[in-house]
Amino acid sequence: MEVTPELDADLLDKVTNLAKRRGFIFPSAEIYGGFRSTYDYGPLGVNMLRNVKQAWWRSMVQTRHDIVGLDAAIMGPPAVWAASGHLETFTDPLVDCLVCKERWREDKIDGVCPNCGSTKFTAPRAFNLMFKTQAGPVEGEGSTAYLRPETAQGIFTNFANVLATTRKKPPFGIAQVGKSFRNEITPQNFVFRTREFEQMEMEYFIPPDSAEEWYRYWIDARFNWYLDLGIPEALLRKHEHAQEDLSHYSRGTTDIEFFYPWGWDELEGVANRGDYDLTQHAKHSGVALDYFDQATNERYTPYVIEPAAGATRAMLAFLLAAYHEDEVEGETRSVLRLDWRLAPYHVAVLPLSKKPELEGVSTEVLNSLQPHFMCDYDVTQSIGRRYRRQDEVGTPYCVTIDFETLNDRAVTVRDRDTTAQVRVPIAELTHHFWNLTATS
Ligand code: ATP
Repeated sequence: MEVTPELDADLLDKVTNLAKRRGFIFPSAEIYGGFRSTYDYGPLGVNMLRNVKQAWWRSMVQTRHDIVGLDAAIMGPPAVWAASGHLETFTDPLVDCLVCKERWREDKIDGVCPNCGSTKFTAPRAFNLMFKTQAGPVEGEGSTAYLRPETAQGIFTNFANVLATTRKKPPFGIAQVGKSFRNEITPQNFVFRTREFEQMEMEYFIPPDSAEEWYRYWIDARFNWYLDLGIPEALLRKHEHAQEDLSHYSRGTTDIEFFYPWGWDELEGVANRGDYDLTQHAKHSGVALDYFDQATNERYTPYVIEPAAGATRAMLAFLLAAYHEDEVEGETRSVLRLDWRLAPYHVAVLPLSKKPELEGVSTEVLNSLQPHFMCDYDVTQSIGRRYRRQDEVGTPYCVTIDFETLNDRAVTVRDRDTTAQVRVPIAELTHHFWNLTATS
């Protein structure tokens, strides 16, 4: 039986505050009063977000022979979105509260206005979530463009290009990471739902008769990716959509859900899209988007299994899962127990004192580590305070350089989670960290 974890109502506030205070995520255009639901990633956040995307790319592209990457344009002509079905069906049901006039997404509010408690609304209207813009100096027909609401369509429109240039054959995949835009009716919960966000999507093209097998394979593979990067199993679950709830393109969808401070909600969706996308684009473009299998002499339109994740949403889940408060030497500390692969800094180099005697050797240590690890360098405040500052942002290891270092050419390495300290010769330091961070 599934055990529901305990809700921590303050957790989102704590993580949001930490993110702002320590330079992970800032409200966008803050000096102008902010721009609702838009965020900027600060010096630490940009490192972490890159690490999330890098961990995904490593598992989806680098360590596989059957998946290649792509980086398609964000702006696209209406024809793409007519073919994909987005112009017609990429809508959410919009209702207006008849009392306070706030607008809501009907399927997210259980019939009660979250602002004033009223239960009286207008009838729902289909609100298209795509951002429409003009390309070029002339307005009107022919200049309309849309910002992509998902990265997937750029993959389908390049299917033939990738086939021709890589000589891949099904089963094979095309992976893409990048920005997507949706004019969400109610963006909410920090970076969980924003109008501009980043996605990590992969379209896996397969012979139709292997669809079920690959669908199950990708659900498990993606679930395990989050586990491997440190999200506890108790905070993850799979939720299979009922047939009647499936999107227009889907033959089966399973969400990987995370237990957020407001309860279970989507982290990633894995869908069996059948041959919907390639068939639609072939029909609308007039270009054949199928595959000729020389071994069987058969031509067919591949089916597609799509694991679609949010990079910014995943970063939020990793932060929420990593946030802990514990006691060290009688003091409460907040610590991000991030997997080292996701941490904004891998190592912090901390000279015990600002005295010039330590400067030379500290710079030497920093220079030796920087080509291999993302390092912070901090000489301000007491060493205890500096450890806490690094714990709070998830730095797995601190290296302290003290006056003894000048004699023994060794430094103290402190572990974030155990706070255990070991003395390591400078000459072995890089190898020491390579051993600690070796990935399977
Ligand atoms: P929802 O039903 O919550 O609006 P969706 O099912 O339409 O989401 P998908 O189209 O499956 O979402 O998008 C794939 C992934 O992209 C999501 O699982 C999520 O991680 C991410 N994502 C989608 N919309 C947003 C958003 N507005 N902000 C941040 N991430 C998003």
